[in-house]
Amino acid sequence: MNKIAMTTPLVEMDGDEMTRILWQMIKDELILPFVDLKTEYYDLGLPEREKTKDQVTLDASYAAKKYGVSVKCATITPNAQRMTEYNLTEMWKSPNGTIRSILDGTVFRAPIMIDSIHPAVRSWKKPITIARHAYGDVYKNTEFRIEGKGKAELLFTGEDGTAMRQTIYDFECPGVLQGLYNKDTSIASFARSCFEFALGSRQDLWFSTKDTISKKYDHRFKDIFQEIYDNEYKTKFEEAGITYFYTLIDDAVARVIRSEGGFIWACKNYDGDVMSDMVSTAFGSLAMMTSVLVSPEGNYEYEAAHGTVTRHYYRYLKGEETSTNPMATIFAWSGALRKRGEKDNLPELMAFGDNLEAACLDTLNQGIMTKDLSGLAEGIETTAVNSGDFIAAIRKNLEKYYA
Ligand code: NAP
Ligand code: MG
Repeated sequence: MNKIAMTTPLVEMDGDEMTRILWQMIKDELILPFVDLKTEYYDLGLPEREKTKDQVTLDASYAAKKYGVSVKCATITPNAQRMTEYNLTEMWKSPNGTIRSILDGTVFRAPIMIDSIHPAVRSWKKPITIARHAYGDVYKNTEFRIEGKGKAELLFTGEDGTAMRQTIYDFECPGVLQGLYNKDTSIASFARSCFEFALGSRQDLWFSTKDTISKKYDHRFKDIFQEIYDNEYKTKFEEAGITYFYTLIDDAVARVIRSEGGFIWACKNYDGDVMSDMVSTAFGSLAMMTSVLVSPEGNYEYEAAHGTVTRHYYRYLKGEETSTNPMATIFAWSGALRKRGEKDNLPELMAFGDNLEAACLDTLNQGIMTKDLSGLAEGIETTAVNSGDFIAAIRKNLEKYYA
């Protein structure tokens, strides 16, 4: 067959450990035989980050901004143990943090669903996408341990010297204290990314905060979403037949559990962190969770939601067979190739993204699965295979679409 052509390169960010091994297998078996692949390659593996003093992460992030579509392998975020393991001169920052701060985006996470794996919540029939605001709040907090009696105050000094001051609490005993912030600009980007994603995927958008208790902070989030919706998106949503819906987070939690799924749930940073873990676990497996960072300028960075699967990698290094699930990483590639095709108006490349995903689902529906899934599947006879055999089975199914 003639390989599918590309025009603009995809920004390819390689990574670490088991996912780096899967990355190469996916390219060799599922992409390169079908697509005349054009990428601008950045090695975000920890050895290269160390060698370049993390310059490679910055270069990759700016390339992601320049070209608009990127695909990323999971990477190690160094901690003390990794400093010794990899002989690091510095505890390099999380690559995802660096990429997010340069692209300024919102992270959308959605589960890949198959018939034989039933969500823990019986009513869920369609995926629930969590949109997490990836800036500020408790992740950029300032906190004190209060050792004894004293007065805590909130003070803001404007550029012109005018001050706002208020007592937070008169401590009569030891305690704790925390300061949080967010910015209108970041909240507005979050809102626009969510509205764009909802339109692009034709799904309703829900947004929830605790505005009844946080009457200024959370209320500001609610107001910004509403203003942007009314001024920029109301007509477009009506034309697309989708809705925007705000509710209190308590109410949202109850409605999500009773729902059928099939919508986007936008959450503040902390809510999104916690709820995405809950939703992905309830859908079945972290290895089946896709993740895409969407910037307000319309740049897309695709990845798997899981990490580098270190435990499997150590077994792999000892020569043992591993059954690591490549689904989320394959869907990062299919998502990125389809988006590249959409931006460059290449229908064949878009179709390839669809076919690759369909071939993955066909394979799972044939009962061929990695071990993490074979234990969960119901109503189907399963064969647990290693990663290589699983990818080979997907290849066979993919070839049928191009026979
Ligand atoms: P992890 O790599 O997601 O793995 C945690 C466990 O989940 C695994 O040991 C495995 O369980 C299961 N699992 C995850 N993905 C799987 C897959 N594809 N197939 C089968 N099982 C899978 O998280 P971690 O061990 O906490 O973190 C490892 C490294 O990844 C850390 O260095 C961390 O910094 C990094 N990390 C990177 C990202 C990212 O780049 N986006 C995100 C999270 C973590 P069993 O061992 O029980 O089979
Ligand atoms: Mg979390």
